[in-house]
Amino acid sequence: MSGPDVAIIGAGPAGLIAAERLAQAGHKVALYERMASPARKFLLAGRGGLNLTHSEPLDALLGRYGAARAWLEPAIRAFPPQALRDWADGLGAESFTGSSGRVFPRAMKASPLLRSWLARLDGLGVQLHAGQLWTGWDESDGLRFALRDGGEEIVKPRATLLALGGASWPRLGADGSWVGLLAAKGVTIAPLRPANVGFSVAWSPLMRERFAGQPLKRIALSLAGQRAAGEAMIDAGGIEGGAVYALSGPLREAIARNGEAILTIDLRPGLTETELATRLAKRRPGETLSNHLRKAAGLSPVAAAVLRETASGPLPAEPDALARLIKGAPLRLTGMASLARAISTAGGILAGEVDEDFMLKRLHGSFIAGEMLDWEAPTGGYLLQACFATGVAAAEGIRRRLRSAA
Ligand SMILES: Cc1cc2nc3c(=O)[nH]c(=O)nc-3n(C[C@H](O)[C@H](O)[C@H](O)COP(=O)(O)OP(=O)(O)OC[C@H]3O[C@@H](n4cnc5c(N)ncnc54)[C@H](O)[C@@H]3O)c2cc1C
Repeated sequence: MSGPDVAIIGAGPAGLIAAERLAQAGHKVALYERMASPARKFLLAGRGGLNLTHSEPLDALLGRYGAARAWLEPAIRAFPPQALRDWADGLGAESFTGSSGRVFPRAMKASPLLRSWLARLDGLGVQLHAGQLWTGWDESDGLRFALRDGGEEIVKPRATLLALGGASWPRLGADGSWVGLLAAKGVTIAPLRPANVGFSVAWSPLMRERFAGQPLKRIALSLAGQRAAGEAMIDAGGIEGGAVYALSGPLREAIARNGEAILTIDLRPGLTETELATRLAKRRPGETLSNHLRKAAGLSPVAAAVLRETASGPLPAEPDALARLIKGAPLRLTGMASLARAISTAGGILAGEVDEDFMLKRLHGSFIAGEMLDWEAPTGGYLLQACFATGVAAAEGIRRRLRSAA
């Protein structure tokens, strides 16, 4: 039996930032990770450029967390986007704001940042125990870890941080197996569901063969009064991409309720319906409809193909009706990709189960951070922002608890 001040389980961004804060405050920190190396999902996020956070005004950023805003707001205000950028820059990231307002490290990947970060943690004396799977508690509330050689280690820290992630991309380590362990302790957990994920569409064979892998650029999607502008990607089985992810919460709920959802696509958000109709009224004699859609409405071949897929028959010849369809093409989504293929996880430990320091009310001394908590947000840097901010907040709570117990 051994006993650090703090055991942090899960070496993703939430666990690592908490380890840094606590070690800087002089605590003996042991970090446990089931995989052979830390932060596998953070490294994968780096393949897409590592969108660390977003530069929009804080109020708009907070709005991205929807129903979880009030819960996360104190943590994000205490560790806002600028603090995250300063931290990353302190590790050599040279963060910059892209044209979309998203913030990235200059290298557009995670590995250099992670390398400097792990070196800093090592310098601070954080002990990393990789290849150790947390399996729950023993009868005297010690943390149980299964070792690779088949052995077991029991650890009794003064405080514990669980930063085990959600359940997307389970082969990277976070597989949601903590749900059963915490539910057995009476903790209420909203079912883990896919967020930021693609949706199924029954495309025609022509659409699948000719347009899978092509982007639909500069579009706006809407569902039940919510709108998201940006890009989407056609794939053989459906549609995905940033604008789709932004609506993935309401789309998921609509599909759960009705078995399908109708996503409305505005293929030309830069023009009003009237402007579009005026342009479409000027069709030259003999011009094919494809050419007319390209020249008059500015539709790319893939956008025109989506338009045809959403029409219930041949495309209307009349300009007003055609303009109406281009501004509101109804796409039927019949299902969603699995949690294993999602970028992030919705659901998790309910807000009411933790106090303002993210300590479990039923398990004093055990704190939670990151994607294990019941919040969701679109892509755009909001996921890492909340993971870092809750990691920092939980570390602060642990520090206070250890100080008051000393
Ligand atoms: C393809 C992809 C791209 C992404 N890109 C971005 C992006 O650009 N910007 C952004 O904001 N977000 C992005 N994300 C999301 C972001 O990576 C996650 O939100 C974030 O990593 C979650 O952090 P976390 O610390 O809560 O959990 P994780 O990063 O999942 O870390 C949890 C750790 O706990 C370990 N663990 C789990 N169970 C146990 C156990 N029982 N015992 C021991 N260890 C355990 C896991 O192995 C894992 O290392 C992306 C995600 C994916 C999949």
